[in-house]
Amino acid sequence: MATAPALIDRHGRTIRYLRVSVTDRCDLRCRYCMAEKMTFLPRSELLALEEIALIAERFIARGVTKIRLTGGEPLVRSDAIDLVRRLGRQVGNGLDELTMTTNATRLAGHAGTLADAGVRRINVSLDSRDPETFRYITRHGDVARALEGIAAARAAGIAVKINMVALKGLNDHEIAPMLEWAGASGMDLTLIETMPLGAIDEDRADRFVPLTQVFEDLSRRFTLTRDGHSSGGPARYWRVAETGARLGLISPLTGNFCESCNRVRLTTEGRLFTCLGHEDQVDLKAAIRGGGLAAVDAAIDDALAAKPARHDFSVERGATPAVRRHMSVTGG
Ligand code: SAM
Ligand code: SF4
Repeated sequence: MATAPALIDRHGRTIRYLRVSVTDRCDLRCRYCMAEKMTFLPRSELLALEEIALIAERFIARGVTKIRLTGGEPLVRSDAIDLVRRLGRQVGNGLDELTMTTNATRLAGHAGTLADAGVRRINVSLDSRDPETFRYITRHGDVARALEGIAAARAAGIAVKINMVALKGLNDHEIAPMLEWAGASGMDLTLIETMPLGAIDEDRADRFVPLTQVFEDLSRRFTLTRDGHSSGGPARYWRVAETGARLGLISPLTGNFCESCNRVRLTTEGRLFTCLGHEDQVDLKAAIRGGGLAAVDAAIDDALAAKPARHDFSVERGATPAVRRHMSVTGG
């Protein structure tokens, strides 16, 4: 139950969803997400686990009901599990849901602990089930490990939703088979349009697939009925009659969803971003270290007073990314 002033932005949107990038580091290098040679933040710049927890708990006190731990790859941060345990204690105590987005490479070893800590659902990014394509997209990943992680999570009682970024010429032919496989295994699939975040080694326009087109193709092969389900995030859902599972679409380029935005994002160095596609931010690390939770509250209020109405993404050939920071920094 919220005990402090609610989080309402200048456009009247109530913020109930906090995403926390617990690390900008990752054990993979997905081509659409990162450059091959990335410079990561020095460890000395990062928030301590205790600081992340205190800030997250402050958000819960102010009405946030859903927290997603993400990154980078959250499970490469050694104390990420301690954070899960700590925030897991808030589930049912103001927080409705604690969840995670992971590439699943380290999930097999952590699934039981996540379940014990109160994690009921996770998103796993799986852009291909083909070992060579997976290796190519991630630059060196082993799909068998990801599949093992998914199986371990499900065995531990955690519901898994698969996330797949649609990439022209790389995995677009795998979308229908992925929908069948996920559905047959009792998992929802969410497709995502590639977004212009941070410099990578290729032109995102070469890989961009409009999900409007994908949806048309899938509609010819599957019976899709609009489903009012909401996971609290930006996806719109359809029920797939043939499998009984859901198809989700996150289409920031072809179907802007900013009007209903209920999210803010905390980076691992304590910057609070109110929009994935803008530079507006406040420094919660300076706030908590300089003035404690009162200063954090004031900084959050400043951030909400400036939250942009919408992103202005476009994926055009040769264009520079909408923002310089990668999704892994802001927290996807
Ligand atoms: N490493 C974890 C993973 O891959 O699931 C969590 C972090 S990752 C940044 C979160 C999500 O963002 C993943 O589903 C990933 O595919 C997606 N993502 C990363 N860069 C993206 C981009 N430029 N456009 C669209 N989605 C992106
Ligand atoms: Fe790592 Fe996730 Fe980015 Fe892939 S999408 S490089 S797994 S942070």
